[in-house]
Amino acid sequence: MRRVTRGVTREVMSNMNWIILALLAVTMTAVAQQPASAPQNPQPVAATQPGQTAAQPSAAPSGQAQSAQSQSPQAQASLAPPTTMDQVVDRVIARENDLIKFLSPRTPIVETYLQNLTQDPQLGPIPQDDHYFLGRMDLSDSIDRSDYLQEKVKGEGEGMEKRLLGGLTKRFKFQYQPLGFSWMIFADRNNFDRQHYNFHYARREFLGDVRCLVFDLTPKKDAGRGRFLGRIWIEDQDFSIVRLNGTYARPSRNNYYYHMDSWRLNLIPGYWVPAYIYSEEGDFTAGAKNKIAFKAQTRMWGYNLKTGTANDELTQIRVDSVKDETPSAQDASPLAAEREWQQQAEDNVLERLERAGLLAPEGDVDKILQTVVNNIEITNNIELPRPVRTRVLTTSPLETFSVGNTIVVSRGLIDVLPDEGSLAMVLSHELAHIVLGHNLGSQYAFNDRMLFSDEATYQNLGFKHIPEEEAAADKKAVEMLKASPYAQKLDSAGLFIKALQKRAPQLSALLQAHLGNNITENGTVTRMAQLANSAPALDWNKLDQIAALPLGGRVKLNPWDDKVEIVKAQPVAITSARDKMPFEVTPFFPRLSRDSVASTPASTTAAAPTTTATTADASPTPTN
Ligand SMILES: [Zn+2]
Repeated sequence: MRRVTRGVTREVMSNMNWIILALLAVTMTAVAQQPASAPQNPQPVAATQPGQTAAQPSAAPSGQAQSAQSQSPQAQASLAPPTTMDQVVDRVIARENDLIKFLSPRTPIVETYLQNLTQDPQLGPIPQDDHYFLGRMDLSDSIDRSDYLQEKVKGEGEGMEKRLLGGLTKRFKFQYQPLGFSWMIFADRNNFDRQHYNFHYARREFLGDVRCLVFDLTPKKDAGRGRFLGRIWIEDQDFSIVRLNGTYARPSRNNYYYHMDSWRLNLIPGYWVPAYIYSEEGDFTAGAKNKIAFKAQTRMWGYNLKTGTANDELTQIRVDSVKDETPSAQDASPLAAEREWQQQAEDNVLERLERAGLLAPEGDVDKILQTVVNNIEITNNIELPRPVRTRVLTTSPLETFSVGNTIVVSRGLIDVLPDEGSLAMVLSHELAHIVLGHNLGSQYAFNDRMLFSDEATYQNLGFKHIPEEEAAADKKAVEMLKASPYAQKLDSAGLFIKALQKRAPQLSALLQAHLGNNITENGTVTRMAQLANSAPALDWNKLDQIAALPLGGRVKLNPWDDKVEIVKAQPVAITSARDKMPFEVTPFFPRLSRDSVASTPASTTAAAPTTTATTADASPTPTN
């Protein structure tokens, strides 16, 4: 399962597509090769290993070893504040090595979504095609990852290779690895020290609520290839890096490093954890020669997930955890038994997905979605034996499915929906499946079916309906919507379908469902497509017409505990058609604050979920 990036194969490329993909491949391999230029012993260079510190004497001033071992913020605070810039740099180096050591036993999920760009005369750079990666990253000695997306992609017979490479030959298979993106969580995994880098203090600057010292980092002359070149932001209490912005220096011939902007969040006391990386390349000025043009978002989460050994799996089997709560001593009737069986399957699936880091824990976003579902149910006099619940997938691809009485919607899909009407449309389709009794997944009531590795989730779980059930659910959904409070808001839902239709041929990776049915087939929207018929014309130039939002503008995912919350962004005025960026990747600009989660647990619970946050104006920035 676990693959390591292979060496670069250089080929003469015969067409554009090839060049773009191959250069990307080379790029990523090149970045991935970074440790190769370092001494071939990838031991952690943390200050806690005095035996290792000979190579970087400045990394371990006395006192740092203790702080790394205890990993306690108190230990950090007890250190005397540095009085010179040299001392600050020493502290920064020590803190970074502390972080590398602290994270080394962890295997977060890393997701990279990349859009290759083409120039549209009216809209500027727009997606031309896209790629998606999802894996677990092993942060021990060398950064390694294993992929969630192995076989079952894009229907039968079309594998990972084809999907990633658009039908390119096999020899590129191992080179187009997203490892390059995830590598960028650290400036330098192995040699972040004074021997390899010059630190130039630039200035002070606030990032959000956090006062930072800004340093420009340049590799020393003989530091070797693949060294970080750019700027780092250091918070001024513990001297942790909170942001890195730059590239990697001195590519070898035929190699190419892309640029990145990497952000960390203070999610647990004493540590700033890598959370987001934005990458972008592309020069659309007249006469530009560089044909690489893409933008990519990389997100990390699931830092607190168990690494999942076979023993863990076995202790997680829960038989009959649902039962024994009913006061009555009666036996179950056949129908009641059937329902309990479905409940068991539902519980198994949700618990397993959450353990794999693919489902957010229950939270406030669920309440918002549930309110919309309730509104549809009440106005349609729908009474179900068990309440319908909603949950959020942590991933970006636009998809929904239902298991038992739980509707699951992906983070990416919630992100791009422009308003409550379109959210109601999405939820109504799955509610229709439940109302019509299209139950899937009862096989998962058998607990042996939950025993698989996290990376094999997509091979072991699936909730795709047959086309007849899809059509029936659409029909029922429209019926229910027309009787609901959302009847007057279906124009926006239809516009969303139209915008999706416009972009669907270029976004096959974003539209590839991994657990449920695809929303599109072969570049054509199939889900709820009839709503487009009554919708107004799609007009990019109409600035008050927001048919779909960029990715990342709605739902904020906590990289430590996987909880999701609605982004509280100020509306930003749209001034041209280019500001709309439907379904597009944008840079990250999180508002940094100290211990943002630890100090304010469940900070938003006070908000009553009576209206959805989706009534807020579109904000093209994924920040608050
Ligand atoms: Zn369906």
